[in-house]
Amino acid sequence: MKQTEVLRALKMQHQAIDMLMAKLAEANKGFYPSKSGAIWDAVVLGHNAICLLEAETRGETMFQCPVCRTVSFHPKDIEHGYCGHCHDFTGEVKH
Ligand SMILES: [Zn+2]
Repeated sequence: MKQTEVLRALKMQHQAIDMLMAKLAEANKGFYPSKSGAIWDAVVLGHNAICLLEAETRGETMFQCPVCRTVSFHPKDIEHGYCGHCHDFTGEVKH
């Protein structure tokens, strides 16, 4: 499958989950997307995958945390392997 098709599918799924979570939050005042466990994990991983594919398409360099899969485009994060989500140096240090 072409990368552009994967990207398109990911974006559509991301929008669909967003829409479903908005409806859930509207219908159920006790529903918090960020506390929905597996649903939220899918949203975060999907968002990271979209960022990665878009950056790859543009030929940009980035750092993806090997622990939580969060993506950063900040030059210092890339250089030091720093993850802002884990608040830790989880990657390899680039020399
Ligand atoms: Zn991390």
